[in-house]
Amino acid sequence: MNLNQLTIKKAHDGLKKKEFSSVELTQSCLDRIKERNPELNAFISVFEGEAIQEAKKADELIASKKQQTLTGIPFCVKDAICTADRRSTASAKILDNYTPSFDATVIKKIREQGAVLLGKNNCDTFGHGASNENSMYGPVKNPHDLTRVAGGSSGGTAAAVADHMCIFGIGEDTGGSIRQPASFCGIVGLRPSYGRNSRYGIMPMASSLDTVGPMTKTVEDAAIVEEIIAGKDSLDATTVDVGVPKYSKKLKVESKKLRIGVPKEYFETEGMDEEVKTKIKTKIGEMEKQGLEIVEVSLPMTKYAIPVYYIIVPCEDSSNLGRMDGIRYGVREEAKNLYDVYTKSRRAGFPDEVKRRIMIGTYALSAGYYDAYYRKAQKVRTLIIQDFERVFSEVDLLVTPTSPFPAFKLGEKKDDVLAMYLADIFVAPAAVAGIPAISVPTGNTKAGLPVGLQIIGPRLGEEKIFKLANLIS
Ligand code: GLN
Repeated sequence: MNLNQLTIKKAHDGLKKKEFSSVELTQSCLDRIKERNPELNAFISVFEGEAIQEAKKADELIASKKQQTLTGIPFCVKDAICTADRRSTASAKILDNYTPSFDATVIKKIREQGAVLLGKNNCDTFGHGASNENSMYGPVKNPHDLTRVAGGSSGGTAAAVADHMCIFGIGEDTGGSIRQPASFCGIVGLRPSYGRNSRYGIMPMASSLDTVGPMTKTVEDAAIVEEIIAGKDSLDATTVDVGVPKYSKKLKVESKKLRIGVPKEYFETEGMDEEVKTKIKTKIGEMEKQGLEIVEVSLPMTKYAIPVYYIIVPCEDSSNLGRMDGIRYGVREEAKNLYDVYTKSRRAGFPDEVKRRIMIGTYALSAGYYDAYYRKAQKVRTLIIQDFERVFSEVDLLVTPTSPFPAFKLGEKKDDVLAMYLADIFVAPAAVAGIPAISVPTGNTKAGLPVGLQIIGPRLGEEKIFKLANLIS
């Protein structure tokens, strides 16, 4: 096995036993990136020299017995997350030359342990998309089939982890952007509860939904990263002051006593791939044989999650993206007057999908429409939250497919905006409700495409989610 194929756990143990150095581990990831990135397009920036320097420092820490869990472990980050002194574009030309002076809190926590930042991953611009085709730096290709999408919006991170260009990655999930690409690429991706991980330094898309979480090769690795990055942050007032469990140490405790709900609405969707349905149902059958109690439940509000999501998100987007004006940072287009600076910079700096969302959001928030759209969507959002709360008084966790289909062909949905929005059908509900959910691989289709199984939990129920995910993978 090449070093780049290791998990966090194995890489950590190998570094500890001095079987290899962080420089060697980092070099093997960089070699893989060099070999594969021209084809997959998973990275926008690779920090080769800096990564080797960081690895050398990590080796010194290890030599002086100061090794922490992530010391010397190479990782990559979605480009919509700020990294100090490292270019961060959000895959938008308007930020093509943007280099933040600070790390997002979650990145700071990881780097403080001495992890090695390899580079920044391609994504849909500002997280807008489900296929990575809305990136202004070209689409990411799926490592399992180069004619297919890697998923989105954290497609570059998913492809990089799946293709072993790194040991782990950090993605962002507003409405499925960690889970859906994780499912398409065959890796593990956790969307934490809203408020569990700090959003400070995550370029905001829809502030009331944005979350940041681990994208890894195993459930154990996701638990390891999550326990490091979670927690209260004075720089993000929405983070909760609730202790962070040692998820990775509790993976095996009492996991068989869980009561699992299977929401019928997630299997009745039109256009659902039969192979995906069968795979998930077979897995649920196996879970029952493992001794878990399985019950059918109903979440009747599920069908409103997509319409609610695609009102709230553009509204918050249109407000958040107002700061991208070509004045304070980012690329400024040549112009005659102030108004021209704004329009020209925004016209050249945003792709169509971003412009579409700004227009929809501005319209829906305008006087006279606010009540009909944004306020109404927020009311229905409450009903979706209540739907989940009711079900979680009966069961511990829910099991569903992550996506109705495996990775689709590049170009297949690109020009059909509604079809692309509908791809989020199983990932949007948990996002709208602010509750945690994970996607874990559950085998491949006959054509060799990964299928992801989603586990949804109650608010701050990450510990239970990890237990079940570990048990079934
Ligand atoms: N597909 C969703 C969207 O386009 C995903 C967004 C996200 O989670 N960042 O809004």
